[in-house]
Amino acid sequence: MSERDGRVVVALDVGGTGMKCALIRPDGAVVHAERHPTGADRGAEAVVDTILAVADGLVGTARTAGLTPTALGIVVPGIVDQTRGVAVWSANIGFRNVPLRDLATDRLGLPTALGHDVRAGGLAEARLGAGRDAGHVLFVAIGTGIAAAHVVAGAAATGAHGAAGELGHILVRPGGPRCGCGRSGCLEAIASASAVARRYTALAAGTTGDADTTSDGGSAAGPTPGPTVVTAAEVADRAAAGEELATRVWREAVEALADGLATGQALYDVQTIVLGGGLAQAGPGLFDPLRTALRERLTFHREPRLVPAALGDEAGCLGAALLALDQLEDS
Ligand SMILES: [Zn+2]
Repeated sequence: MSERDGRVVVALDVGGTGMKCALIRPDGAVVHAERHPTGADRGAEAVVDTILAVADGLVGTARTAGLTPTALGIVVPGIVDQTRGVAVWSANIGFRNVPLRDLATDRLGLPTALGHDVRAGGLAEARLGAGRDAGHVLFVAIGTGIAAAHVVAGAAATGAHGAAGELGHILVRPGGPRCGCGRSGCLEAIASASAVARRYTALAAGTTGDADTTSDGGSAAGPTPGPTVVTAAEVADRAAAGEELATRVWREAVEALADGLATGQALYDVQTIVLGGGLAQAGPGLFDPLRTALRERLTFHREPRLVPAALGDEAGCLGAALLALDQLEDS
């Protein structure tokens, strides 16, 4: 493990718009980082070609620098079968049963691990970041959607079908706003950063703000300008400043989140809940009321520590490196 022996793993975190890539030492130190566009609009096959080319390039960069790449870790969004190394399904990138692990091993000749982006981020937060003092951690990423990773003793549960951790689709408001998954009242339809922004914007414009992705648009048609889109961070700021509508939308999001986290705590009984993603950057404006609301919902369950993520948007890439290292240890 000495840093002089020059061993590194190649890590790629493939997102819907960009890839974060790095060479990382076994102790977690990043020795080289680069970013590339995913170009998901080109189709899944082209994205796979880009992933393999970028990984190949990183192997070359490592060798040129006198380092020894020992393994590759790739994490992607969607449904991932980590055991078989298959990207089963992804809405953003269009993966359908892509055997990405074997493709990478064939191309690069390195042992390769394929994982899920949020689970990898949770793994990194649990082992290297905000959850590192806890054996049982629930990592919750709140951005466009809401997803989670349950990490026990340094390993994230994948589920039987690669779909564990879909906390955003816990039903918290039956009959509530419609979710992207097609059901009404899911947590992420109320408390994701996108939902907070959408709901505030709609209410400010005098529409219901409920549910409606199905644009009935028939009412009040006319030359009125479209609503200005307000971000979730701005809603948080306006709520902190005491604005009535923002306070209401923010409180509803916080209460829905508390319902979701209380369910998570009932299921997993963790020491620490780590909140990541854009919404977690709201700081005390989120964490203070959320701690109170969560406490109100717990009866006999122990209250977890509720803390912000520590690794920022590098968490997924660090998690990819951990998966690569873990698989070397296992083999
Ligand atoms: Zn849903």
